[in-house]
Amino acid sequence: MNIILLGPPGAGKGTQAQLLTERHGIAHLSTGDMLRSAVASGGDLGQRAKKIMDDGQLMPDELMIKMISERIEQSDCAKGFILDGFPRTVPQAEALDTLLEGKGLPLDAVIEIKVDEEELVSRIETRINESEQARSDDTVDTLRRRLEVYHEQTAPILPYYRDKGILKTIDGMKPIDEVTEQIEGILKAA
Ligand code: AMP
Repeated sequence: MNIILLGPPGAGKGTQAQLLTERHGIAHLSTGDMLRSAVASGGDLGQRAKKIMDDGQLMPDELMIKMISERIEQSDCAKGFILDGFPRTVPQAEALDTLLEGKGLPLDAVIEIKVDEEELVSRIETRINESEQARSDDTVDTLRRRLEVYHEQTAPILPYYRDKGILKTIDGMKPIDEVTEQIEGILKAA
């Protein structure tokens, strides 16, 4: 089972991906986590990524496509994967289609987690206050920039998948377990 979780920053993609990974034994592929571990290891890529991430901007498409293409080849993806944070632009979505087609892999569901923007700001504020969960891009200013980038560059992915008839939208304002149940309902029907 191969799934994409879409939604603005703070919508709960990471939380849901984690839960689904445990339930279904599929891999959680978070490009943000991959970049954060590159930052932690301190190489050239990490230095470049830190600046872009702290600025709330996006890393170059080519680099991200290569990262996902290599990651999908790893053995823990054999039973399937949940993409969290990728694709983030239409060129990334197009490249992913080509990639999956080339590897003979299906895309079973694209799920948009919809959340009010005011709620996102308050979630990020909570994350900032709970210091062990805070990230260096967790500031209200960065969030606002990330939301702008989401609307400009990522939201156009929604009609891309809607036109293909595989986009499902769920209510991300509900409690975590109810959001999970909405996702499970979609996966059962997929
Ligand atoms: P996330 O953890 O998914 O919110 O990602 C954190 C940051 O990593 C983003 O704000 C971007 O700067 C960068 N990033 C993660 N995934 C991608 C992607 N698919 N394309 C470009 N930049 C990305």
